[in-house]
Amino acid sequence: MEKLTKNNKKPLKNQKNRNFFNKISIFLNKYIFPDNFKCIFCGKDIVNFFDKPYCENCEKILPFISENRCLICSNEINNEATICDFCQKHPPHFKRLYTPFRYEGIVKKSVLNYKYDNSKYLAKGYALILSELLRNLDIDLITFVPMSKNEKRYYNHSKLLAEELSKLLKTPCVELLRKMKDTKEQKSLTFKERRENVKDVFVLNKNIKNKRVLLVDDIATTCSTLDACAEKLKSCVVYAVVIARNMP
Ligand SMILES: [Zn+2]
Ligand SMILES: [Zn+2]
Repeated sequence: MEKLTKNNKKPLKNQKNRNFFNKISIFLNKYIFPDNFKCIFCGKDIVNFFDKPYCENCEKILPFISENRCLICSNEINNEATICDFCQKHPPHFKRLYTPFRYEGIVKKSVLNYKYDNSKYLAKGYALILSELLRNLDIDLITFVPMSKNEKRYYNHSKLLAEELSKLLKTPCVELLRKMKDTKEQKSLTFKERRENVKDVFVLNKNIKNKRVLLVDDIATTCSTLDACAEKLKSCVVYAVVIARNMP
């Protein structure tokens, strides 16, 4: 590598190289990987996708969860407590849920595209954002909320996200869980029904103990699904991560 000189003569050459690579990147961006370099929320072309996969306009209106949140489930808290009432009453089987966003506005729109509009390329952008949150977390394995045989006619968006995270965090992704039967869509159910709906639905694919596992899903509302999965992994330390948190 050439070193920078004080009088900036060499950097001129570097500058030329940079322009050249920029042009290549724009070319790849436009014609070969057209979806990879677009803002994951509005679809606008962006150059520094790998630094920040969204544009400046979207950044201004992103629904980031406030810092005043539950240390376990990331639910926003309106008082001085560090653990929300919900987690105090029903402590989940995971140690902590990591997530940057509230499930609303442009984030909700983007996640719905990801889930139902076959916009698989969004997984890379979400993984870039989530990997920043998880950078200092010590984990041995990554796994994801599985789908039942019937549900598999759709792609598993949680698995895809887990695989992208696995590349960025350089941690293996393993299919630790299986879903034994179909469940009703959680969003139409009450808290109690959600718990019932996912009870005894997941089984372990392999016996696993004493590992630090990161469990990946797309969104969380009451965390019933994450909790049911984490319960099966109770001989491990389970952390969870989702793109966004629907505030119950
Ligand atoms: Zn945007
Ligand atoms: Zn909580």
